Amino acid sequence: MPETKFRSFRVDAVVLRHSDYGEADRLLTLYTRQLGKTRAIAKGARKIASRKAGHIEPFTHVRLQLAKGRDTLIVTQADTVDAYLSLRDDLILTSQASYVLELLDRFTYEDETENSAIFRLLTDTLSRLASKADVWLVTRYYEIRLLDHLGFRPQLVECANCGREIQPEDQFFSFSAGGVICSRCGRGLPNVNPITVDTLKYLRHFQRSSYAEASRARPSLEVQKEAESLMQGYFTYLLERELNTPGFLKKIRS
Ligand SMILES: [Zn+2]
Repeated sequence: MPETKFRSFRVDAVVLRHSDYGEADRLLTLYTRQLGKTRAIAKGARKIASRKAGHIEPFTHVRLQLAKGRDTLIVTQADTVDAYLSLRDDLILTSQASYVLELLDRFTYEDETENSAIFRLLTDTLSRLASKADVWLVTRYYEIRLLDHLGFRPQLVECANCGREIQPEDQFFSFSAGGVICSRCGRGLPNVNPITVDTLKYLRHFQRSSYAEASRARPSLEVQKEAESLMQGYFTYLLERELNTPGFLKKIRS
């Protein structure tokens, strides 16, 4: 984050959300390539004639000039890179894009760390949604890659309990162990979820594939349902655990 040494600098950002601030200003929560998650104030953005207002709606990919104020960053210039307009005309796409932003917002805190991999994943995902790609596929791919970047990559090759290589059969998935549990261990462990061999194969394929490769697979409806509910359960578990970790709370409060 070398730029923060300077009084004014440029960032590439996606607006995660905004809220009213004072009489006429907006407080933006941004995910930036250069600083990770950060916040900045857009002065006068609520005035009807504001030239900045259109650039700072949620989902928008913007290039911002930021200046260091006394306590906060201030937006001095905003240019839209991509407004992803088609996301705004379609309720399903709007809600899916909101989910993508919210997931990132909930798992990150303001730590002034560059993370261009997450930033690229975010803008790629919004572009894919805006280009009307398969919503289910785009969202699941985003989830599994986001887990990688956040350091929660699920273990799908060896049993997350005993370390033995996973055999091609129905097994279990444990949120707390962070991966697949072999059929032997799974029978004796509490709080494990069944996972069929087809869903396991699909998730493995996903985990090691580029988006183009991942989009070639044709999972059955059952596999789609099971993969989605396992990923949702894993995210929910991680979020609750992180939120209850004192270190994590300290980081987001500071
Ligand atoms: Zn095992």
